[in-house]
Amino acid sequence: MEQLGRVLCIITGASRGFGRTVAKEMARLVKPRSVFVLVARSGNELQTLQEELVESDLEVRCVVVDLSLMEAPEMVVRTAKEAFSPDIEHLILVNNAAALGDVSRFTKSFTSMAEVNSYLSCNVSSALCLTASMLQAFPKQSGLRRCVINISSLCALKPFCSWVLYCTGKAARDMMFKVLAEEEPDLRVLNYAPGPLDTDMQLIARTQTGELGLRKTFSDMFDEGQLITCEASCAKMMKLLLEDKYTSGEHVDFYDV
Ligand code: NDP
Repeated sequence: MEQLGRVLCIITGASRGFGRTVAKEMARLVKPRSVFVLVARSGNELQTLQEELVESDLEVRCVVVDLSLMEAPEMVVRTAKEAFSPDIEHLILVNNAAALGDVSRFTKSFTSMAEVNSYLSCNVSSALCLTASMLQAFPKQSGLRRCVINISSLCALKPFCSWVLYCTGKAARDMMFKVLAEEEPDLRVLNYAPGPLDTDMQLIARTQTGELGLRKTFSDMFDEGQLITCEASCAKMMKLLLEDKYTSGEHVDFYDV
């Protein structure tokens, strides 16, 4: 089970939730001496994950950083370049980190440019700048497959009342990666919507959502056991990567796989 080859895999938001699961599941599908770069703000959680992963004969580096900071892309790229070796066959960047933002308020309350800019900087600009920095650092070369994943959402396609920041950010990210797919035909680009996951983000959704009908929907999904485990969703994403048949730039939902 080493079908992804010897990889250099960068995962943002690897400290918990879906990103952490992606790191663990991906580790089972790569050749020994693959390199994982784990990115998040929570150093202790990254370190625990690092200790688990190195047991599988992987080299694991942690970058403890807030992705909204200007210096974040450079820090991640520097670590990835230091760890890179010429026998790496496959570069995989998983843009997973995201935040819901303030979902307790409605669109007309967002009058502060500083607040909106801060959200977009963390959730949109950072993904673009990190991806661009990685593509420059690891340009097209023979023998190196390159894949960029955007962890998307149904919210990229469908409006959810009181979720204006999140829906806007997810829609922008989808389009950003669609443009990238058009521009770079040799690159594999996947917008993967993982479905409703049982994570910290869902806890915020069912307790803080301002639109009460939507809040109840999330609460009911939790009570009725309808949330998906990160493992089940990640298995479908890995299937997509292994089969490698998706159209580059396509938005693929958990329920479509
Ligand atoms: P969680 O809130 O559980 O985890 C978010 C991760 O992102 C954490 O590892 C967090 O790490 C990291 N992160 C957040 N902000 C920053 C930041 N400024 N700098 C660095 N890292 C950051 O979310 P999920 O696991 O649920 O979500 C993962 C992805 O899946 C997201 O893109 C989300 O939008 C998407 N998604 C989730 C759904 C769900 O139902 N949960 C549904 C559809 C899509 P730390 O706090 O340590 O920095």
